[in-house]
Amino acid sequence: MAAESIGEMPRFAAKSAFWAELRAVAKEHLAREAGRGRPSIGDPRLLRKAAVILLWFSLSYAALLSASTLPAALLAALSLAFAAAAIGFGVFHDANHRTLFKRPAANLFAARLGAALLGLSRHFWVHKHQSLHHRQPNVVGWDDDLETRGFLRLSPASAWEPRHRRQEVKALLWYGLNSLEWVFWKDFHCLALGRLNAWHPLELEKHERRELLVCKGLYLILFVVLPFVVLPFLWAAAALVLYHLAFSWVLAAVFQVAHLTPEMEFDGVRAGDDWAMHQLRTTADFATGSRFTTWFTGGLNHQIEHHLFPNVAHSHYSGLRPIVRAVAGRHGLRCHDLGGTFAAIRQHFTLLKTLGARAEPLPS
Ligand SMILES: [Zn+2]
Repeated sequence: MAAESIGEMPRFAAKSAFWAELRAVAKEHLAREAGRGRPSIGDPRLLRKAAVILLWFSLSYAALLSASTLPAALLAALSLAFAAAAIGFGVFHDANHRTLFKRPAANLFAARLGAALLGLSRHFWVHKHQSLHHRQPNVVGWDDDLETRGFLRLSPASAWEPRHRRQEVKALLWYGLNSLEWVFWKDFHCLALGRLNAWHPLELEKHERRELLVCKGLYLILFVVLPFVVLPFLWAAAALVLYHLAFSWVLAAVFQVAHLTPEMEFDGVRAGDDWAMHQLRTTADFATGSRFTTWFTGGLNHQIEHHLFPNVAHSHYSGLRPIVRAVAGRHGLRCHDLGGTFAAIRQHFTLLKTLGARAEPLPS
């Protein structure tokens, strides 16, 4: 089925004085950091961290396959889910943004490894995340993170339907089933239809299709077939479901809250806004004071800094944060902060509740 027309891609204004100044100040800061052995790409601190995450993931997997009781299997599956999320945030995401290694081939290898360990298509994800979401966050039709095929209403710019009532409760199930659907259905569906969603065609090249099938095949052998061969059927089934629920909820808690809360803006690209100003209006930081959260989320709690500097290693986001705020303040622009992780999650569910309860859009 052919993709529907979504119209012209939103246009941004020419580079603002804010973005010109911020880029200049950030460039100086990053040059100083590079002089201290902390380069903007291929920071050794992130490579050490990636090694720790992969070790955590491997040990969790070994614990799952060697579990001698059901609670032990479930505990290992839970640990594996959190380690998988850390791979998604700190290995796969960074490698696809080409910030993990200096060498492009090494980033490609890490991205493919992440795709195999997480069971997803690298090409569909890169198009969804980098080409669409990063370019125009919170713009309906152009940010695929808002796309739920009508199950949830994530933006006041989307049409309300009666099924959105109580969506703050239904979202728990929708978010929880996300990776199961993604791994076992959605990628294959996109591949068969030749499009990412209703509006964006994406035909994979032959070698891209081959990569998808190899990664899916490895995933299925390692994380579906082997557990069912080694463990009693019910243990393996329970571990599989728990793994996907936990993995999906953690991904949602990080990726959704940073853009979808009541104080974010959803009215498309405003006249006069350049790309950087649009990122500030639609993106929020959370829990930036927590070193653990920064470590675990691969710096995605510094979502503003990530959106402004997606091609800079996330180890620099804490250092860039005060710079972004100082420059934004000088230009009269606001940087959104949601508070701690649970406060951010609470605000996301407040948005879901409000958008689900009424047909009229929220005042912006
Ligand atoms: Zn990103």
